[in-house]
Amino acid sequence: MIKLYNTLGRELQDFEPLVKGKIGFYGCGPTVYDYSHIGNLRAFFTHDILIRTLRRFGYEVNHVMNITDVGHLTGDSDDGEDKMLKSAAERGKSVLEIAEFYTNAFFKDIERLNIIKPNVICKATEHIPEMIELIKRIEENGFTYFADGNLYFDISKSLSYGELALLRLDMQKAGARTDIDKNKRNAGDFVLWFTKGKFIDQALLWDSPWGMGYPGWHIECSAMSMKYIGEEIDIHAGGIDHIPVHHTNEIAQTEAATGKKPWVKYWIHNEFLIMNKEKMSKSEGGFITLQSLIDFGFSALDYRYFLLQGHYRSQLQFSLPALESARNSRRALTERLRLLMKEAGEEIKPLQGTNTYLEAFNKALSDDISTPKALAELWGLIKDPALSPAEALAAAFDMDGILGLNLKEEAKPVILDDSQKVAEIERLISERQEAKNIKNYKRSDEIRQILHDMGIILEDTAGGTTWKIKL
Ligand code: AMP
Ligand code: ZN
Repeated sequence: MIKLYNTLGRELQDFEPLVKGKIGFYGCGPTVYDYSHIGNLRAFFTHDILIRTLRRFGYEVNHVMNITDVGHLTGDSDDGEDKMLKSAAERGKSVLEIAEFYTNAFFKDIERLNIIKPNVICKATEHIPEMIELIKRIEENGFTYFADGNLYFDISKSLSYGELALLRLDMQKAGARTDIDKNKRNAGDFVLWFTKGKFIDQALLWDSPWGMGYPGWHIECSAMSMKYIGEEIDIHAGGIDHIPVHHTNEIAQTEAATGKKPWVKYWIHNEFLIMNKEKMSKSEGGFITLQSLIDFGFSALDYRYFLLQGHYRSQLQFSLPALESARNSRRALTERLRLLMKEAGEEIKPLQGTNTYLEAFNKALSDDISTPKALAELWGLIKDPALSPAEALAAAFDMDGILGLNLKEEAKPVILDDSQKVAEIERLISERQEAKNIKNYKRSDEIRQILHDMGIILEDTAGGTTWKIKL
């Protein structure tokens, strides 16, 4: 039985899908006005691990992800500028060009991180009719009002507004924030459909019963999840910043339309990636992309390994030294697997039955997706001298179905041509020297052993280290 921490209720709960064996999973996708930063990628990595785990436990998961290419404002409460418009103006491009460029960049990033592609990827701009139909239902049920050209959702009509975020409705109702939008009856009201107001120059406009205009941000997730999953869904996921506004509003409007409650059975939220004690964010500047890590000489899988070391509900502090340490661990893992491969010497067959490490690995995952514990089981497995190399490898490759570190490919002996081999030997020698400089003799000995296994003999001389091929 899988246990998940449900934000709705704030407790660990036994996971039971609405329909036996099948799961509808909706994860809020990227807003494609800029590159995703590595904090955003933490959210998509969390969805990936969760979905891989659910599939490992035998569930059929329908994973739906939206692409926000219209309507998301820089402020969550209908304030600020339209992110897409702002980005297009700054870059001298059209909104559609911007959306296409950053959508492609996003998919390149998630592919490099080994994040499995969703079953359905849906763009907001391609689902305007569905949004209009949904808004009509909300309006017919009496949850809206029209003011100064925009259609608002009235949160005072929704009896359980703010339940997810534990918001106090009396606070939300305490008068409109006149400095932001004089038309709002309650501070928490939000726009379902804009026809005028902020963005006279909005590039994308659609006809609707309320006039030519464009949707508010939240409605896309309700409309698209309904189209591709149904009126009730098992799991909805996103970063914790979505709890107080975006997800709270999604719930209010969807339940207003369908009258069914709860719309979502389990709400899963990942904590932030933090840098220098602050949440990494696109608007704050200083954000890091996956490409910039690669340009620094890291592999995307080093970052995946780094993410695996943190539990999704804890903040994760990013720094280059922390990423370097993840890279070293991943290298040591690969080296260990290569050694086991050499010792096993035969085709690795899938594991017959199970072993204690695999059982503990599965238990860690079923316990609210504890990737740090799961990773520790992998290490225990490959270091256990009581296991045959073939068994350890088979179990490690099985675990990789969740970890997504490409262990099988990484463990293959490296076949280098001569110039690559020389470069690799020299890289290892300088890494050994660095390890010695900081008195990390364990690592320097490990490297000597790796080189030894490659048939290289080292000679430490007063002038530095030289090497020769073992004859
Ligand atoms: P966006 O592209 O801004 O819509 O965000 C995509 C996802 O990243 C959302 O689920 C956010 O909640 C999440 N997110 C934003 N910043 C961070 C961060 N620093 N760490 C982890 N997740 C984040
Ligand atoms: Zn959403």
